[in-house]
Amino acid sequence: MGQVRFGNVIVVPGHDGGRFPFCNSLLIDDGTRVIVDPGAGQEPLTRIREQAAIDVVFNTHFHFDHIIWNYLFDRSRVYLNDIEAGCYRDRGEIPLRLGMAEFYGEPWTGGWLERIARPDTPQSLYTPENRHEWWLSTARLGGTYRWGDVMDFGSTKMEIIGTPGHSAGFCCLYFPAEKVVYTGDIDITPFGPWYFGADGDIDLFIESARKIARLDADVYVTGHEAGIVGGEEFRRRLGMFLETIDRRDERILGALSEPRTYDDLCSMGLIYGRKFLVDDWLRAWDALAVKKHLQRLIARGAVTCRDGVFLLIHSPTDC
Ligand SMILES: [Zn+2]
Repeated sequence: MGQVRFGNVIVVPGHDGGRFPFCNSLLIDDGTRVIVDPGAGQEPLTRIREQAAIDVVFNTHFHFDHIIWNYLFDRSRVYLNDIEAGCYRDRGEIPLRLGMAEFYGEPWTGGWLERIARPDTPQSLYTPENRHEWWLSTARLGGTYRWGDVMDFGSTKMEIIGTPGHSAGFCCLYFPAEKVVYTGDIDITPFGPWYFGADGDIDLFIESARKIARLDADVYVTGHEAGIVGGEEFRRRLGMFLETIDRRDERILGALSEPRTYDDLCSMGLIYGRKFLVDDWLRAWDALAVKKHLQRLIARGAVTCRDGVFLLIHSPTDC
């Protein structure tokens, strides 16, 4: 997919089909020139930087794959939402929000901050989370924005739609005149929604996804994989995307065909698959996701916990 233009809003397709850790970016080619979520790849973003000055780098949230090449635009103002802006003032907030502080504790997160400060840091097996770009691209904060703000770049107006759930400050971007929505990580991928960080929330994710589906839009641009999708198709695929949440519930219920401890459940790779548990990041996120689903299943009355053991409420062992 080459660059596609809607008015002054240009979709910059991410490398490798925008698969994580790349993402599809936007270039707003107006009086104020803006790059949204510079994760498309070093080569296309370097080319954009060389064509004309970029005034603003706009991050929809603080996650690595959406900010990775912020640092290339060293003369631009970097904007992040006011909820997560602390991540660029004190990087210690990043592992807190991602759940690493909760799962591993302070010595681990301190070690991580030291690792990403070094250009030659050893890499994780399945995630890019040790990469030095984390450090470079969180070094500057030029300004913050709030949900509901309308930014005016000349002839292009961009409305910031608060869509928490993926992360606490995450937003989607709505261009009402062009009838285009940039959906970021409400991305209709087969993997399904990601709300595994400490600041992620399943119910809010679902609510946010439904909110953007209701916008008066002809075109949805996803942050990963699908890219440019018509409104009707986006709404249809969004349904399947959200059903992944129910399938995760079902996998946990299946695993509880016999009572299990939380540690048992976390050793099964119920979210990512067992082979990925060798990676520190994926092991933590698998466990944090299992915890969020257990809370949901308990609230629904499907699961209970006795003496540290989780069991189905209607299982024979519960009689
Ligand atoms: Zn994200």
